[in-house]
Amino acid sequence: MKDQKLKEEKNPQLEFQAILKQAIELLGYSDEVFEFFREPMRFLEVSIPVKMDSGVTQIFRGYRAQHNDACGPTKGGIRFHPEVNPDEVKALAGWMSLKCGVNGLPYGGAKGGIVCEPRNMSMNELERLSRGYVRAVSQLVGPTKDIPAPDMYTNSQIMAWMLDEYDHIREFDSPGFITGKPLVLGGSEGRETATSKGVLYTLEIMSELKNMPLEGLKVIVQGFGNVGGYLAHFLHEMGVKVVGIADALGAIYDPEGLDIPYLLERRDSFGIVTGLFDNVITNEELLEKECDVLIPAAIGGVITEENADRINCKFIVEAANGPTTKEAIQILDQRGISVVPDILANSGGVIVSYFEWCQNNQGFYWTKEVVEERLKEKIHASFLNIQQTSERFGVSMKIAAYMEGISKMTEASRLRGWINF
Ligand code: GLU
Repeated sequence: MKDQKLKEEKNPQLEFQAILKQAIELLGYSDEVFEFFREPMRFLEVSIPVKMDSGVTQIFRGYRAQHNDACGPTKGGIRFHPEVNPDEVKALAGWMSLKCGVNGLPYGGAKGGIVCEPRNMSMNELERLSRGYVRAVSQLVGPTKDIPAPDMYTNSQIMAWMLDEYDHIREFDSPGFITGKPLVLGGSEGRETATSKGVLYTLEIMSELKNMPLEGLKVIVQGFGNVGGYLAHFLHEMGVKVVGIADALGAIYDPEGLDIPYLLERRDSFGIVTGLFDNVITNEELLEKECDVLIPAAIGGVITEENADRINCKFIVEAANGPTTKEAIQILDQRGISVVPDILANSGGVIVSYFEWCQNNQGFYWTKEVVEERLKEKIHASFLNIQQTSERFGVSMKIAAYMEGISKMTEASRLRGWINF
């Protein structure tokens, strides 16, 4: 029974559906609305044959979920991960819809994934896999249909290969097909650091609301890849004490503060650095260490009803997708620990992806200052909306964010004549 419960708790699609249902009921919408949005409108599963360097052909599984396109083309990253699975990709696509909804972006959500272990693959193998994926899903994607981007263990080089493959298939140049590209291929200034900057902006607002000045805050960042690494760097630069970090293999904690520049210099391209230390603790142990702000910036489902009682911080900012389960949020709520939800906190990535796509469509490129100013403005406005909804309905910011997102999608679907509510 307990195992079954844990399994459900760890299934992000069930998690997505449960909170969605709650949000829809609070808004007074009918069951029809829930039935419409609970599953993605389209889901594709593909086989990708890749000739490995050894000469052997290996078959990889790939997925693309498109949650809903009422508000515009679908949008979302592609992750390369050994544990990626259909339910995870579907939930992540739903969360992308909500992220676009709360920020008023003219998109619906999507997500893709390939089951692979990129740490054990050569650059040539990764290139063949990336190109193979685009060939497999090419009918479904495109600059006005579904626009991919980076996600866990994918980066601007992988986006460049994918763009090149797509351009070959379509026989024209279409930079707006994918975002998170290198600058010379039509990428945007500020895209690489966008997710961590967005997290930082929400952290700033929250610390102001809680009357906890940034200087002197003790922060734990779980994850040291693109998001966690940049975040630790910016926090350190601002004089905030980063007391703990974690990578996929372990974690280190020092209440006096860690030497972040030293750690960043030594991490490998997958964000691994803890192997260099003797006093390594586990990721689970790190999450329970004392701090002011806990920022899970790695995988989903790490704060559950099993450990929520022992979390030792003043507030949480969800930089990863789905790191805190709904049961955990309830427990944290009762303990007075607020959670800035992922849908808002990590939406800086897709916001600047949207800016990149606008720049591609215009063929006119913005400065980093303009990008960051517009990002900050958008996240601030979305934060205030969610906060107001949370106060008005007396619900957590997580549920309020779902309510904000789903109301936009419901309105668009109703106007298109797809549903009544
Ligand atoms: N993968 C990122 C996310 O989960 C970015 C998506 C995008 O830029 O489209 O939000």
